[in-house]
Amino acid sequence: MVYAGNVRSLETVKREDLIRQCPDCGNKDIEYSNEEFYCRKCGLVLD
Ligand SMILES: [Zn+2]
Repeated sequence: MVYAGNVRSLETVKREDLIRQCPDCGNKDIEYSNEEFYCRKCGLVLD
């Protein structure tokens, strides 16, 4: 049962990592281009 809990935690972390949000305007519509993430609303490059 502990093992199952660990797997669920890892999935949550991975999912949170995929959801990127622009720190400048809060937009979540992020585009990946040239190995970098761009905000499609204001054009900010995310780290
Ligand atoms: Zn933005």
